[in-house]
Amino acid sequence: MTRPPALLSTDKINLKFKLYEGVAHVLKDVSLEVYPHEHVAVVGESGCGKSVTLRVILGLLDRRRAQISGTVHFQGRALSEGDYRALRGQDITMIFQDPMASLNPTFTIGDQLRSVLARTGVKQQAEQNRRVQQALLNVSIADPERVMAAYPFQLSGGLNQRVLITMALLSRPKLVLADEPGTALDVTVQKQTLSLMEALVREEGAAILLITHNLGVVREFAHRVYVMYAGMIVEEGTTEELFNAPKHPYTQALLASVPRLSGEALPTGIDGTVPDYTNPPEGCRFHPRCPYARAACQQDVPQVQISQTHRVNCVLYAAPPLPEAAHG
Ligand code: SF4
Repeated sequence: MTRPPALLSTDKINLKFKLYEGVAHVLKDVSLEVYPHEHVAVVGESGCGKSVTLRVILGLLDRRRAQISGTVHFQGRALSEGDYRALRGQDITMIFQDPMASLNPTFTIGDQLRSVLARTGVKQQAEQNRRVQQALLNVSIADPERVMAAYPFQLSGGLNQRVLITMALLSRPKLVLADEPGTALDVTVQKQTLSLMEALVREEGAAILLITHNLGVVREFAHRVYVMYAGMIVEEGTTEELFNAPKHPYTQALLASVPRLSGEALPTGIDGTVPDYTNPPEGCRFHPRCPYARAACQQDVPQVQISQTHRVNCVLYAAPPLPEAAHG
């Protein structure tokens, strides 16, 4: 089956920050794609570069501090600084992790939602109110007038999260970036949030790029998955491929670290921590923690195509097999 052109693609994004202790190479050659109507997840431990990838895609990083190379294409066009301003909040929107930190405490919810519509050219306040009320009803807020008149601090975390989803969908975006939506909320509201997002995005026909470390959410929600470790994509595939036949030792370790309700196997942690970005390991950045590491892992690691949709960056799958283990 031939795919339509990608809605979003990043090509070899590299991100570096100059710090007092040296240069931190935070993202290395990050290339990913999102196709129309797709739900794509990026997973990995905290600190592996997921959130910052979304910020690069949205052009939110301060270019005076961040050195960024590589390109971001949206609808086939390489984005420039000016494009970001035009796309943000309209064709591309973002749902941030913490609703309280994302909403402005000095404006009512109504003001903040109406301003989204004003930016898309809906200038009449009566029309803005009508659309905002309908959008709030769509996220199961039964009393939209009360919510519109309230300030964020007067609402619960769950309500504010719904407001954020409303805000992200109000401009009818083509792509929604979701950074751990609902992590700050309890699990039942989190589940509700994802179901709402899924239903609304399905109706609007948008695509979602979700980042999370919750593999249960990924299994339920995503069509395709990118696994990220220490600022690099180490494996990608359909959700089925990644969960049923993970190839990269890091993906395998991530899956093995999830507790199972059946209790059939105890979760195993991953020894060690994500490396220091000012002095990352050469070659495969996972090699200091990998039980299969060998000398070849400290050089450039090949990307191996397992199937049409499944790719892994690991010497274990390169042919012919590479030399024997250096340790472990
Ligand atoms: Fe382990 Fe080497 Fe594969 Fe990296 S490339 S995951 S160190 S076997």
